[in-house]
Amino acid sequence: MATRLDGKVVSKRILSELQQTVTGLAQQGVTPTLAVILVGSDPASQVYVRNKQRRAEEIGVRPLMFKLPEETSQKTLLAKVAELNQDPDVDGILVQLPLPKQLDERVVINAIDPDKDVDGFSPVSVGRLWTNEPTVVASTPYGIMALLDAYQIDVTGKRVVIVGRSNIVGRPLAGLMVNHDATVTIAHSKTRDLKALTREADILVVAIGVPHFIGADAVKPGATVIDVGISRGADGKLHGDVDADAVEPVAGALTPVPGGVGPMTIASLMAQTVELAKRRLHG
Ligand code: NDP
Repeated sequence: MATRLDGKVVSKRILSELQQTVTGLAQQGVTPTLAVILVGSDPASQVYVRNKQRRAEEIGVRPLMFKLPEETSQKTLLAKVAELNQDPDVDGILVQLPLPKQLDERVVINAIDPDKDVDGFSPVSVGRLWTNEPTVVASTPYGIMALLDAYQIDVTGKRVVIVGRSNIVGRPLAGLMVNHDATVTIAHSKTRDLKALTREADILVVAIGVPHFIGADAVKPGATVIDVGISRGADGKLHGDVDADAVEPVAGALTPVPGGVGPMTIASLMAQTVELAKRRLHG
């Protein structure tokens, strides 16, 4: 049976360590501050933003929440970002995606000061990642690396196959894996003979949003399988991209859904907010 890579347990540990770090920073006069901008009323975004606020408060990070109306103009949003860029008390700025249609996501993300870009989505952050310079990286890939690290799963020299090439998961994870000396292949919807490829993976990461897409026949015996996907089924339950019941007897390690990558993502956002805050002291 595959080892369960428990993101709930690991993220709790990380958050409690962060809480201590935040206490130490507060004693030196720095309160890590995360500004979150939510435009409109997308129900899923509202839940994500509420969770981020709650986690931040739990560990002593100050959340600054800005809820702007659905019809907010690009100019208004950019003015808010510019104001937060200038605010010396703000360490990280996050614009919750997706944005309403009248707003250009790329322009808005590019407007965030790269040194406050806590989501790591800006081209500057992505460039730093791919040139292996210190940078903030997207929270989900960061969380996946932290989870592997917690279970002492070394990626050095391993064959890693990532299914999904989004800017928030697949691509940045590929950069991190390369920086950690893995041999990486990125697959996507146009990839031919995907199963043959995934079967070669020592570490298989699936981030496509198609429930139970990966079955036992797509997994090399003993492989580590990271299931990023989250879809709500007709049964109202959350499902991953991996058919966990089928894959568990084959894989060496597997992340559950829920309780795997999800909790690591939010802990990683907090970890990177705290890292940015530390720069106020150490430059
Ligand atoms: P996107 O929709 O942005 O990207 C999906 C990727 O999957 C694309 O690259 C697409 O290929 C590829 N893909 C889709 N179908 C197939 C297929 N049949 N075979 C191979 N590749 C395929 O998704 P996200 O990256 O934003 O999210 C992916 C999943 O991860 C979702 O379920 C999302 O909810 C979840 N997620 C979970 C997080 C967490 O914290 N646990 C955080 C972020 C996302 P192509 O590029 O060719 O279209």
